[in-house]
Amino acid sequence: MLKDMGIHMKGGVITELDSEYCTIRTRVPAGVISCDQLKGIALVAERYGAESVHLTTRQTIEIPHINHSDLDAIAQDLASNNTPLGSERDEVVNVIACPGKERCIFANIDSISLARSIDAELFGKEMPVKIRISVSACPNACTSPLLNEIGIVGQNRPVRVPGMCTGCGTCVEYCKEEAITIKRGISVLDPSRCVECGTCVRSCPYALLKSSGEHYLITVGGRRGRHPKTGRELIAVRSPESVLIVIEKVVAWVYRRAWSGRLLSDQMDELPFEKFRDEIVASIPEEDRAGGTISDFSAGSGI
Ligand code: SF4
Ligand code: SF4
Ligand code: SF4
Repeated sequence: MLKDMGIHMKGGVITELDSEYCTIRTRVPAGVISCDQLKGIALVAERYGAESVHLTTRQTIEIPHINHSDLDAIAQDLASNNTPLGSERDEVVNVIACPGKERCIFANIDSISLARSIDAELFGKEMPVKIRISVSACPNACTSPLLNEIGIVGQNRPVRVPGMCTGCGTCVEYCKEEAITIKRGISVLDPSRCVECGTCVRSCPYALLKSSGEHYLITVGGRRGRHPKTGRELIAVRSPESVLIVIEKVVAWVYRRAWSGRLLSDQMDELPFEKFRDEIVASIPEEDRAGGTISDFSAGSGI
């Protein structure tokens, strides 16, 4: 007899095809675990008869083929290993992140720290629909943030130092979007092509391209699955604190109003999205919004 029948209801317990067994999903914020935690999971898996583990798309580790009678014990062992039960149902599930500034040359933000902060605030919160949150530190979007209910993308908007471009063309070569051309011997940006990846900022050998400030683009209403949909741009903000404020407001909105059981992306389609966006934008101080349009270099350069 289980001491805690409620454990079956927790999102980290998934009944298998053979209903005699469950798969246990662990909580791994940002997909990062220590070597000791990894060894601990292997020991726990072996202790309860699993011969292998499974790495999930949400950067967690699942232990398969666990007997129902072992659920309480394995949950306690995993908690002692600091890799407790995860979530998979209608709740805020494991927050995922790319390596970001910890390792990646393309990174504009510290995606792992941000994902951990979001996880600390919101993981496991019971919701009317599943809320997946993904952080990518640049527009390469390795963790597919735009296909999550809430996505965060680190961006970096280039500005050229006035009057000093040599026209060497290095930034032109580095820009994958063909957003920069050389005209009359100086670089010119086509703002409509720029995705604000910041690569050109790092490419100029004379350090003439500067960042106007790394920032965080937040999207809502994306999804994968059988009818994938790209999230909509909600707001760009300048600090991780503002990211948390925006995400908490979106989650609170979903909690209050989205109990129809349909996916958030469908519910967003039925909203006056601009009104929803305006409400969120109004909650962020103007100085912490990274709004406005990108200017072409010549307009910003004073040449
Ligand atoms: S999303 Fe960008 S920063 Fe993150 S791992 Fe991919 S390339 Fe690197
Ligand atoms: S920030 Fe814009 S202009 Fe610079 S490399 Fe990226 S896409 Fe190109
Ligand atoms: S902005 Fe820098 S890299 Fe680009 S053309 Fe001018 S000097 Fe060269």
